[in-house]
Amino acid sequence: MTVQIFSPLEIPETLAAGPGPGNTDARVLQAFSSAGVADHMQGDVLRGMIECKHMLRQIWGTSNTYTFAVAGTGWSGLDTMFSAVMPGDKVVAFSNGTFSGIDALTLRIKAATPQEHAANPLDPQAASVTVIEIPHGQTVTGEKVEAALDEYKPKWAFMAHWETGSGRINDLRGFSDACERHGAMGLIDAVSSLGVEDFRIDDYPGIVGWASCPQKGLCCLPLTYAPVSFTDAYIDSLKSTGAYTYVHNPIFEARHWGIVDGQDVEKGAYHRTHSGYAVAAFHESLRLTLQDGLAKRSALYRTHEKVLRDAVTALGCEVTSDMPSLVVLNLPAELAGREMELVQNCRARGFGIWPTLSAPVQVRIGILNQLNRQAISQIVRLFAEAIHELGGQVDFDDIDALLQSRYGTSIAA
Ligand SMILES: *Cc1c(COP(=O)(O)O)cnc(C)c1O
Repeated sequence: MTVQIFSPLEIPETLAAGPGPGNTDARVLQAFSSAGVADHMQGDVLRGMIECKHMLRQIWGTSNTYTFAVAGTGWSGLDTMFSAVMPGDKVVAFSNGTFSGIDALTLRIKAATPQEHAANPLDPQAASVTVIEIPHGQTVTGEKVEAALDEYKPKWAFMAHWETGSGRINDLRGFSDACERHGAMGLIDAVSSLGVEDFRIDDYPGIVGWASCPQKGLCCLPLTYAPVSFTDAYIDSLKSTGAYTYVHNPIFEARHWGIVDGQDVEKGAYHRTHSGYAVAAFHESLRLTLQDGLAKRSALYRTHEKVLRDAVTALGCEVTSDMPSLVVLNLPAELAGREMELVQNCRARGFGIWPTLSAPVQVRIGILNQLNRQAISQIVRLFAEAIHELGGQVDFDDIDALLQSRYGTSIAA
């Protein structure tokens, strides 16, 4: 047998202008690559994890003791959050796009009985789970949540805070209030909103579980940690039912972050082999978030999203999203149907924008960690060139004038 050794892997620098991952901050990469070799029980690694836990509680505005992070990506945090959902549990899940659709699948997997799994192993139809489908491009409103919880009276209710598939903000206040009124335990996919939006977990008492990711608002792609937070009510439920997992059981996981029996302890205990590199990167991303301040960051996202939205509208596109970190749009009528071609042309040039991943086909342009005039102007110009290349009408002078008028005086940052 011949041994096949490939050339060293080189990955080019691109402009990550999609829904996520965002542009990992240089400070985060620096922290990742300058960490020394140290094992997962070395004192500074453990101290770093404890400090991360405290920073996360501040960023997320919560006194939940069970606030920590799960090694991996957004789905790792979400799987941990869903671990307390047991076969036969009554669940209502709201789905208004790709990601909440996968969350709803996860909930059906968790709540399905063995018979339901056997009948359809990859897509179990759990009788105890009701999925309320909200059309792509629409918001999950408080009224819709209220009506469904009133009708089904579930143990668990689920919604995505920001649905990245369709670029829609869902009604967190209405969801939390309805959960409180109907005694449901609310679970939230906050993968897209953490680090972008200025909100506090403790203002939403109907919600018992939260899960997010490292790679979007926290600018920390080097495979690190997915933040999670749980109230005592969630932990009590988990304590009484158990969960079918060791690695993603929040009670076990929290031990390495120095949380034992509902109390902060001085030092974490082994749960799995954490990476000092990942801890250092995650720690830096949390420091960066606190130094920026969420109020300032969320205001900057809104300002720059508005410029991008107005520029693509001037190019004849129709924006259907309302998320400050992401613009989801329909191309001008004469280019309808050529979304994939346009996205592929852009990606071939290292301009990483995205189509939607579920119907209808739309284009998604994100601005994660691109909060400055130069980055937004570059995104607008590259997109205008792509439209022009497909034969669309583009007045480059108009676009430049729009950018100049928006950025000319007030927003230098
Ligand atoms: C990106 C995203 C996910 C998945 O996160 P990964 O980091 O890819 O695991 C889940 N939910 C929402 C709302 C997202 O935007």
